[in-house]
Amino acid sequence: MKDFVDLPVQEMLSAIRSGDRVSLARAITLTESKRPDHRKKAIDLLTAAYPFSGNSMRIGITGSPGAGKSTFIEALGMFPPLSQKQIGVLAVDPSSRMSKGSILGDKTRMQQLSRMPNVFIRPSASGNHLGGVAAATRESIILLEAAGFNTILVETVGVGQSETDVYDITDIFLLLLIPGAGDELQGIKRGIMEMADGILINKSDGSNQERAQLAKVEVERAVHLFQAKPSGLPTWVLNISATTGLGLDTVWQQIEHYFQETTASGYLQSRRTEQREKWFREALHDGLLQIITSHPQYTELLSNALRDVVSGQTLPPTAISTLMANIRLA
Ligand code: GDP
Repeated sequence: MKDFVDLPVQEMLSAIRSGDRVSLARAITLTESKRPDHRKKAIDLLTAAYPFSGNSMRIGITGSPGAGKSTFIEALGMFPPLSQKQIGVLAVDPSSRMSKGSILGDKTRMQQLSRMPNVFIRPSASGNHLGGVAAATRESIILLEAAGFNTILVETVGVGQSETDVYDITDIFLLLLIPGAGDELQGIKRGIMEMADGILINKSDGSNQERAQLAKVEVERAVHLFQAKPSGLPTWVLNISATTGLGLDTVWQQIEHYFQETTASGYLQSRRTEQREKWFREALHDGLLQIITSHPQYTELLSNALRDVVSGQTLPPTAISTLMANIRLA
C-alpha cells in the first residue's frame, strides 16, 4: 500500500472526507511533522480541507489534573443528545512538550468513548509542531471538521499557558473544579475563571454534596465580581458529577443555549474572526523566527548574541537590536 504521505493531496482529502479514521490520524501526524517536505504537504492538505471546515461546536475544557476532565468528556460524549453527533476529542498537554511522560496522554483514558463509532480521540497534540501545541490543535480542528466532526472537545490541563491557548481556539470555554480541595479555586488562576463561559463543580456526589453546594455559592460569588464577558452572557456555575451523570443535561442545554445566543448576536463569528487574526500573527512570528534560526548565515550571529546575553554582558533588547541591524530578509 502506498504510504499516506505520498498520496496526492486530493486523494488524502477524499480519504479523510469519506470517514476513514486511519487516514485522518495519519493526516494529523503529517501536520505535526517538522520535515520541510512534510510541512509543505501538510499545508497543501490543510488548504484543501479549509473550505470544508468551520462547521462544528468547538468546546474547550480545562481543569487541574484529577478534576475529572476525561471522566466528564467520556460521560458527556456518551450522553444521548451527544451520542447522535460526530465527536472529536483533542487533548492539549503541555507536559508532553518535555517528552517526560504526560499528564493526559495515557491510553487508558476514555476507553468506552474511544470505542464509539461516532468518536475520534487524539490523545495529545505533539509539542514538536513548529508553532507549538496551539498551532497543532488548530490544524487538527480543520482536519476533524473536514472529516465531518461537528462537536469538537479540546481538553487541557489548567496548569499554565495551555488553557489560554485553548480559549483562543475554541468557541466556548468550560472550567472543571472540585469541591473541598482546600482553596476552592485550587490554584486555578483568577484569569482562567474570568475566561470561563461555564464553571462546573465536578464530583458533586456522595459525601461531597454539601461541600459541593458551598463551593458553588463561593464560585458564584466570585463570578459576580467579574466584569461582563464579551459574549454578553453570564458565566454559569453548576454542580455536576461525571460519574453519576448529575447535571450533564443542564451542561448540554447551557452549551446549546450559548451557541444559539452567540450565533444570533454575531459574537461567535467575531470571536472566530479574532482567532483567525491571532493565528495569523502567531504563524507570522513562527515563520519569521524559522527563517532567521534556520539560515546558516545567522547561526553565528545568533549564538554570539545568546552567549553575550546569558553571560550578563548584553541586555536582550540590545542584542536583538544589533541582530536586527545585521539581518536582511531576502
Ligand atoms: P482528569 O485528570 O481531570 O482527566 O481526571 P480523571 O477524569 O482522570 O478523574 C480523576 C479521578 O476522579 C478518577 O479516579 C475518577 O474516577 C474520579 N472522578 C471523576 N469524576 C468524578 C465524579 O464526578 N465523582 C467522583 N466521585 N469521582 C470522579
